[in-house]
Amino acid sequence: MPRIRVLSDRVANQIAAGEVIERPAAVIKELVENSLDAGATRIEVEFRHGGRSYLRVEDNGCGMSKDDALLCLERHATSKIVETADLDTLGSFGFRGEALPSIASVSKFELQTRPADAAAGTEVLVNGGKLVHVRECGVAPGTRITVTHLFHAVPARRKFLKSDATESAHIIQTVRLYALACPQTAFTLVEDGRVLFQSPACTTLEDRVAEIFGRQFTADSLAVDASDEGLRLTGLIGKPGVSRAARHEMITFVNHRPVDSRTLNYALIESYTTSLPKGRYPVAVLFLEMNPAAVDVNVHPAKREVRFRSEGQVRGFVIRTVLQRLREFGLGAPVVETPGPEAAARSAERFAEWQRVSTFAPPPPSPSAAVASAPVPAFAPRPEVAGNLAPPPAAASPAIRPPHSEIRLPPGASRLAGWRFLGTAHGDFALFESPAGVVIVDRRAAHERVWFERLVAQFATGQVESQRLLFAVPVELDPVASAMLLDRLPWLARHGVDVAEFGRNFFRIEAMPSWLEPEGAERFLRDVLALMRDGRLDEKNPRLAEDEFARLAAQKAVRLPDTISEADALALVAQLFACAQPHTSPQGRPTHFELSRGELARRFQR
Ligand code: ADP
Ligand code: MG
Repeated sequence: MPRIRVLSDRVANQIAAGEVIERPAAVIKELVENSLDAGATRIEVEFRHGGRSYLRVEDNGCGMSKDDALLCLERHATSKIVETADLDTLGSFGFRGEALPSIASVSKFELQTRPADAAAGTEVLVNGGKLVHVRECGVAPGTRITVTHLFHAVPARRKFLKSDATESAHIIQTVRLYALACPQTAFTLVEDGRVLFQSPACTTLEDRVAEIFGRQFTADSLAVDASDEGLRLTGLIGKPGVSRAARHEMITFVNHRPVDSRTLNYALIESYTTSLPKGRYPVAVLFLEMNPAAVDVNVHPAKREVRFRSEGQVRGFVIRTVLQRLREFGLGAPVVETPGPEAAARSAERFAEWQRVSTFAPPPPSPSAAVASAPVPAFAPRPEVAGNLAPPPAAASPAIRPPHSEIRLPPGASRLAGWRFLGTAHGDFALFESPAGVVIVDRRAAHERVWFERLVAQFATGQVESQRLLFAVPVELDPVASAMLLDRLPWLARHGVDVAEFGRNFFRIEAMPSWLEPEGAERFLRDVLALMRDGRLDEKNPRLAEDEFARLAAQKAVRLPDTISEADALALVAQLFACAQPHTSPQGRPTHFELSRGELARRFQR
């Protein structure tokens, strides 16, 4: 019979570490939270190699006595609560007393700390959960924690770490979240000896947001401040029409803790249903304040999730507040993002602005970006691709759309003998008489299918239509997106999207597939990034990734003209029938259906 033993503290801590400390960014999260709980007004974070080899968090907070410095490494040792009832009045980030012992159990952990009124500081060194030494040391008041060799003794954990760039992006994102949560605290973030981000104490959230996401973000936002029945909502929400393809810029805090709350996310999305196109997400940095007793933060050890005692009340309050603000701004009228000729000028402006406010200026922009407002065509087709693949009619951008006489009917055309185009109904539907009855074609679905198969075929042969943009489009991304993008630059280039990095988190779109309007380049790239975030452009499964990419591209490529000629209509159906799967759109919607003569006769009781 197996014998039962009580686990040693060291093993118990290592197991707990599995829950709390899943990656270097989690160490940073716990340490920064502790610094904020200690009342720090200045926090410096440094890391190397995505945090694998070195992490340091230093603060000017209250520091610890020698006894506390030892005690804080014991499991369940905390200064923040005494009994569970204290959770109801919790004003701190921490309360579980597990972070420090967990981190120390899976790394080499050095703590130096000194309360302001103590003559000397204390240094504690722990290696893989074993105490190495405790001694006096000279340090400034506050606390400095240095973590090296993270997961050294836990190879299973190390294996799950992603590339340095990805881990680094998570760390940067974490620090940004806390910098947003506490604008009055000065933050410095250093990677491999280089200052990435330095923000003095800010008096307003707008200033902090502008430092973190750029001035464009604040210019595109509306300030919110409302209270009702013990709830208060403050922060910034995107103006109607400002949207993203994924929800990563919906940032929410509850009592200043960054949270990932279904209730809040849904409330936000719902508030925007009439002011954003379907499938797009709003942007927001929102702070909900409420009685701590009305929210449970102890749902998960990492405390990212929260549970509200009264979900309905919170949801209703957020929706009411956001809707009210949107209505005040423009009566919530749908403002669809329509990139006009000013778009290029605007991005050049934004770029200049970015250069002005950025602490790490990139190399100077290409001369083309500087003169982007000049009245010249927005792109020039690459000579080697223009013309050798005629795009399907009615779907290509006007500049490269061939005259109708050039339409070559594909093989599917032979099936169209006896077909007659009757006209369109409600814009989207094309009606035909066929020998067997009446056929109704969803033009959009049909076009998307044609484009999809065409793109997949191009990918398979490596002959992707792409064109250099006359004016490279500058794009500033958040660090997580930047890291993902960097990993996938060669893949994207092979698929017609040429993006170059030129400065941290700053990119230039230099070439785009020729079916895309240059004005849509930035949005397309952001949508591609959203697919990457959702793991839908998986490198390990190139076929699936290409399908996903083509599916998105097909949606973007299709612009339906209001009117359609008989030649165009028949060519579309011919191309559709030449497809391997003519019956459904890439999203699985039907492309057409037929009412047979028999069915017609039955309906009219002939
Ligand atoms: P918790 O934050 O849940 O209390 P931790 O393991 O993170 O648990 O920290 C244990 C204790 O160590 C804290 O309660 C606090 O008293 C002390 N401590 C940790 N970090 C700091 C710091 N940077 N400055 C002052 N005290 C700290
Ligand atoms: Mg803590």
